[in-house]
Amino acid sequence: MTRIPFLDPHVHTECRSTEDFERLKSSGCVGVLAVSGTQGGFRSPDSVLDHFERLDRYERKRIERVGLKFWLALGIHPLGIPKRGVEELMEQLPALLQRHHVDAVGEIGLESGSEMEEMVFSKQLSLAADLGLPVIVQAPQKKKANVAKKTMVLLEENPLNPARILLNHIHEEGRPEAIEKGCLLGLSVHPFGFSPEQVTALVTRTPDARFVLSADLGSQPSYLMGMPAAIVAMEDAGVPGEKIRAVVHDHAAEWLGR
Ligand SMILES: [Zn+2]
Repeated sequence: MTRIPFLDPHVHTECRSTEDFERLKSSGCVGVLAVSGTQGGFRSPDSVLDHFERLDRYERKRIERVGLKFWLALGIHPLGIPKRGVEELMEQLPALLQRHHVDAVGEIGLESGSEMEEMVFSKQLSLAADLGLPVIVQAPQKKKANVAKKTMVLLEENPLNPARILLNHIHEEGRPEAIEKGCLLGLSVHPFGFSPEQVTALVTRTPDARFVLSADLGSQPSYLMGMPAAIVAMEDAGVPGEKIRAVVHDHAAEWLGR
């Protein structure tokens, strides 16, 4: 049991049980940011809309009932671009984001770096700027330097305040540029991400970075108790309490504008 409260800003809630959220709550979690995903791919705009609708209605109620705060990020992930009707979906998106109670746009980004992905990503960035919403941007899952670079270029081209850009899973080489720009850096305590000890080392070694910790809970193997474990590891290593709190709660809360 940990005393420092945390919020997890990267959860694919539909893949997790109510018991998981109850365990998070009893470990000091105050809330989660539910992010839309790919659901293994969408055939049409309607499938995307149904996914958004479920998150905003059903998931919100289910998680609030546990006693956790619920924030919502909606966006079209590069691997979730529907096979048909993209133009139509993009036209509906501004009204859609305003209709749902959306706290952030995401997760969005580039994977292959195709023209279609670039168009969808760019439009969502400028939409976030128009609506005054923060964005959650993911680095390409396959480590592609040219695609990662293009992601940064498109971020630069849009009038978004860097303090409202959360960059997830950014590769080591990209970190200095992101820190210099003033973006937030998302780290995941995850079997494919970082261990609690690695998180501790990074936080200690990189005092200029504004890190935001998550457990990236979804359908893949994960560490449900990754965030409390990272808090304990940082405490054991003598990281000051306010620094830990910034990484597991405050940076994310500020980014959300809460
Ligand atoms: Zn995700």
